[in-house]
Amino acid sequence: MKTINVTVWNEFRHERREQEAKEAYPNGIHEVIKSFLDADEALCVRTATLDEPECGLPDDVLNSTDVLVWWGHMAHGEVPDELIRKIVKRVNRGGMGFIALHSMHCSKLFGALLGTKGDLSWGRNQREIIWNIMPSHPIAKGVPDHFALDCEELYCEPFYIPQPDELVFGAWYEDGYIFRAGCCWYRGMGKVFYFQPGHETCRSFYNPYVRKIITNAVHWAMPAEPGFSVPGGYPEITEPATNTPAIYVDPD
Ligand code: ZN
Repeated sequence: MKTINVTVWNEFRHERREQEAKEAYPNGIHEVIKSFLDADEALCVRTATLDEPECGLPDDVLNSTDVLVWWGHMAHGEVPDELIRKIVKRVNRGGMGFIALHSMHCSKLFGALLGTKGDLSWGRNQREIIWNIMPSHPIAKGVPDHFALDCEELYCEPFYIPQPDELVFGAWYEDGYIFRAGCCWYRGMGKVFYFQPGHETCRSFYNPYVRKIITNAVHWAMPAEPGFSVPGGYPEITEPATNTPAIYVDPD
């Protein structure tokens, strides 16, 4: 089975500073995500955190990552612009998959990948139901028609994102609000999946269906393998295409 190199990146600040987050994720959100991804033998998983040298993502790590999973919130602004530029290039040109979790929506990196600010409304932690609204999608494999999370932070529409290329999951909250909770986009050669659950004081990363969805998303987002080498930049075409069929063949 082919190995997919996954890097789980976490800001890792809340869990070191705030008791409630520390109780939910004593060794950090990244370690919990790594633990369930490690159960998939097709995946080779490593972690990276903001306070490591080069934010944990020196060029050799970034360039050998097939799928980058990202959790950030309070320190989005500390991710250097140069690193953001490199990540966007790895997605667009290198085909690296990107899994954006929870509060990633309001980061400069998310905006750089998708072209909008990702603004949304939010509120108190409460019961949420995740609805599987595209069961034919690979990320929905093995996921029931709906499942409940007893405690998640309210995120609600309107969510100012580009229309998802594929909307896989919707959310309903006990206060009556709704949200596009699982969204896919194609960017250049790469793929991006946003998934809403994962507030630092909630225990959603222990939920078996959240784990299945993130694991499925890693497989979906792995780099494509086209039957040609993808050119970088804007190559000039000087020769007609060869061996192409006629544009229109009259059936009579
Ligand atoms: Zn949150």
